[in-house]
Amino acid sequence: MSDVCQTCGACCASYRVSFYWGETDAAPGGSVPAMLTVPVSPHHVAMRGTEQKPVHCAALQGTVGISVGCSIYALRASTCREFTAGDERCADARSRHGLPPLMRQR
Ligand code: SF4
Ligand code: SF4
Repeated sequence: MSDVCQTCGACCASYRVSFYWGETDAAPGGSVPAMLTVPVSPHHVAMRGTEQKPVHCAALQGTVGISVGCSIYALRASTCREFTAGDERCADARSRHGLPPLMRQR
């Protein structure tokens, strides 16, 4: 997590975080702990807690907007790895938690 993400975590508490079930450790080569996921379609799972409202990933530790960490950071799904700090979805997630958008770094 970047420094700013360690004081945020809004995206982990805003969206359904879904991905191909083969990324879980129930599949050969998968990493995401299957016990932290729930099935959402025949071939996809979501991080537990992100399939419901209010959204809060089961792997998210700490308090959104203050200090957070991902308990499975090294094992997290591609969906988490590909989320981009500073883009529109990041700004939307932060807005949902009363946080201002990040200033884009150039
Ligand atoms: S697995 Fe980690 S990075 Fe992914 S949504 Fe959950 S807390 Fe966030
Ligand atoms: S919403 Fe943006 S700043 Fe906050 S944790 Fe996610 S990527 Fe980082």
